Amino acid sequence: MAPEREPIGVIGTGYVGLVTAAGFAELGHDVWCIDIDAAKVERLQRGEVPIYEPGLEELVARNRARLRFSTDLADALEHARLLFVAVGTPPTYSGDADLGAVHAVVDAMPPSDHHALIMKSTVPVGTAASIRRALAERGKAGFGYVSCPEFLKEGTAVRDFLEPDRVVVGDDGDWAGDAVVALYAPLGAPLVRTDVASAEMIKLAANAFLATKISFINEIANVCEATGADVTEVARGIGLDDRIGPKFLQAGVGFGGSCLAGDETVLVRHHGRTTLLRLEDLWARLEAEDGPAADGVIEPAGLEVLSWAPDRREPLFLPVMCMTSRRYEGDLVEVRTKMGRRVRCTPDHPWLVSDGDDGPIEIKLADELSERDWLPLALERTRDLHPAGLTSLVGSAEAAGIAPSQLIVRPPREQLETLLTRPAEERRVVLARHPRVGQRTSEVRRTGTLRFDELGLAALDLRGSTLGTATNGAHPRSEIALDQAFWRVVGLYLAEGCSNVDGRRSGRIVWSFHRDREQHLVDEVCAFWLRHNVRARAWRSPTSHQVTVQSRLLQAWWTDVLGLGCTSYEQRLPDLIWERAQSDKWALLSGIFEGDGSWSLINGGPSCIIELGTVSDELADGVLRLLADVGIVASRRIGRTTKSTKDTHWIRVSGADQIERAIPLVPERDRPGVLASVSRQSKRIAPTGFRRFEDGAAWVRVKGLDRRPYRGDVFSFEVPGPHTFVTNGGLTVNNCFPKDVTALKQLAGNSGYHFQLLNAVIEVNELQKRRVIAKLEKHLGTLVDKEIALLGLAFKPETDDMREATSLVLSARLQAAGARVRAYDPVAEAQARELMRGIAFADDPIAAVRGADAAVLVTEWEVFRTLDWNAVAAAMAGDVVIDGRNALDADAVRAAGLVYEGIGRS
Ligand code: NAD
Repeated sequence: MAPEREPIGVIGTGYVGLVTAAGFAELGHDVWCIDIDAAKVERLQRGEVPIYEPGLEELVARNRARLRFSTDLADALEHARLLFVAVGTPPTYSGDADLGAVHAVVDAMPPSDHHALIMKSTVPVGTAASIRRALAERGKAGFGYVSCPEFLKEGTAVRDFLEPDRVVVGDDGDWAGDAVVALYAPLGAPLVRTDVASAEMIKLAANAFLATKISFINEIANVCEATGADVTEVARGIGLDDRIGPKFLQAGVGFGGSCLAGDETVLVRHHGRTTLLRLEDLWARLEAEDGPAADGVIEPAGLEVLSWAPDRREPLFLPVMCMTSRRYEGDLVEVRTKMGRRVRCTPDHPWLVSDGDDGPIEIKLADELSERDWLPLALERTRDLHPAGLTSLVGSAEAAGIAPSQLIVRPPREQLETLLTRPAEERRVVLARHPRVGQRTSEVRRTGTLRFDELGLAALDLRGSTLGTATNGAHPRSEIALDQAFWRVVGLYLAEGCSNVDGRRSGRIVWSFHRDREQHLVDEVCAFWLRHNVRARAWRSPTSHQVTVQSRLLQAWWTDVLGLGCTSYEQRLPDLIWERAQSDKWALLSGIFEGDGSWSLINGGPSCIIELGTVSDELADGVLRLLADVGIVASRRIGRTTKSTKDTHWIRVSGADQIERAIPLVPERDRPGVLASVSRQSKRIAPTGFRRFEDGAAWVRVKGLDRRPYRGDVFSFEVPGPHTFVTNGGLTVNNCFPKDVTALKQLAGNSGYHFQLLNAVIEVNELQKRRVIAKLEKHLGTLVDKEIALLGLAFKPETDDMREATSLVLSARLQAAGARVRAYDPVAEAQARELMRGIAFADDPIAAVRGADAAVLVTEWEVFRTLDWNAVAAAMAGDVVIDGRNALDADAVRAAGLVYEGIGRS
């Protein structure tokens, strides 16, 4: 008889082991925890919890007296008969589970007939049988064995232990099974007590089913994309059916598998605004919006991320189904590529990989990458870009802390007159803050200005106005055109500028150019501001030629609204640029390069390089991406100049073709010389380690991998469809694989995303179409030279949508079988003509069936339901009617002397 609170042993104190140990301690058991990792054991002995799992630290602290930690198995064997095995079973290179640690534990067991192993680790079906054989061979047949698979989810592991959905115990009905059942009894969870093989299979089947649900909704998402549906709505709609259930219909990355470090960047469109953000900053932003995500998964509203697929020329923004975050302690792999791009991710993060040639594109884990592999670079975005527009300065008043009553507006004179000539009582409403309306009216007339709040009350249009404050000289136009001149000035600022606020009221933006050699740039900036009614001051210091714009309003617009940095260390590209036309991007880049860039001939020419140095990490990343957006693959090198305390990023454009294309980055006066030099280059040497193909896809070669220990948060996305997102410098990575699914992926043919279940679904659908052919052949024999009429072509009635339409496959198959096909559809003919070749289109149903050997109802339009079947019979040469939709009145068809056949109907 076992003691009431049976002491237990737990071997392996990772997520599962430590949670199990602390959980049983909470239930009053003494627990001996064994791990081979001495450092981990020492930390646990000191009371530290080496993993992050909500509630675990408290649970361990509360039960410290009952938890003992040791590296010596003998401690557990001495005190406990039940030994829970919770060692890792990571996937091997081939995707199978690595049972090395499990076997090490088994081998370490002494002969005993009063101990039992309780297997918590996830093992393949059949492991118990092989362990038992191994024990028997070594004279340890008396050792008990129970399979007790674990279903906890990281992030909610403590709750999952204390409130499990079910407990599965697989045993031979012996003392060990009884003891495990007794241990779990206080939790009151449904118990599945079964044989060992079934228990193993339950864990595998649960994983398989969850993976199927994920794959299923991912595939649905693909179809949603093609049809304009919203997959989240679909998931909600089907999830409310209690036979289906809502969980794991959100792509299920709650598993938290492979991820990227938090300082990697992504280009996202969030509520319509495009921003380049670090993953950790994006997560913080989503948490601020949605509240803390206890389970590490956020299904964000209105978030899209730049994504790319091998069959697409251009990257594009796609909706993010969910973003995940989790604590991670272990090695991170830094994937280094040619051209200086690098990304830090977990070793199991999947990447799209090619051989840099014509070979197939595969998926490899970060850890498996080698110098033979090439990674995709997302290039050239030309879609969804905005033409030049205007931006209003008004929003900056709030950022500058200027109240509407302090903001002075000078509307065009005629606008003001319309106000001043209004009746006194109307003006009183507008100028109400002033006790004497008459006095205020003449003030407005004299100064030609209003306060912003007055303008609002007067319902006057802001267009054509200038804005300012009482304390500030500058009165810029209220709207600034986002034209190329503007982007040039922004670019020059990113390279040469800084800005600051003096106290609350005044702010300034400064461009510092070369003292003697950059007069043209000084003129360019001054002229730009003058066009916007702002007098910029140009002056020479002993070391530079500076242009200063003095305005709190403009300074706030510059830094708070446009989001430019205040110093060279903080500079970043403005969010607005990501959605601008290519010409604007070139203008911005040319400003940046003109300010901080240089060009030089290599060894006196003819080869040339264009280079930019910046100390801002964010600007470097942004410029690399923006260059990629306009189709230029630049390389990045990081180095430290002698006097600097911070790394400088060197961004370099090379290769004759690229130089020609990137010529706007060279100052205008130097362009002819550079082009002439490059054109002398007889052999065009492409940059090494980077290839660009005819279809526009670009790839960079892997240079090496560095593994370093890491402790912190890691992040990933689920992007339905291509399952990729574009990260640092344009490198494209796959979505994370849910951890437990990698083994299943192996089972499913090692093809990653191509889960076989989907193939089965498609096959069933295809078979259905083939059945129609079989029915026709049954009646007509060979179809060669037979006339077949298709009634309806559209994918369903009341639409002209031909996507996924059965008629496409059916007509192709009929023609392949030698039949001649004619068709009638009330609305889809035009669309069908685009997609279907070699078929004749009729103007009405009777014309379609005239002379036909058989008619097939493909789309159940109302017009076919009410057909005059006698007229049909008279027109047809044959008499076969196949009702592909089970929509016709079989009796009416038969009454006309025709042969009716439906689907699955006798
Ligand atoms: P883990 O890597 O966090 O922990 C494994 C621990 O076992 C480590 O501390 C390691 O040092 C120790 N260990 C390795 N070999 C040992 C040996 N010979 N003797 C003693 N200790 C040894 O792993 P985990 O996430 O806790 O997973 C453990 C098992 O549970 C795996 O099979 C896993 O598939 C399964 N599982 C995990 C989860 C989960 O969410 N983490 C959920 C269900 C099932």
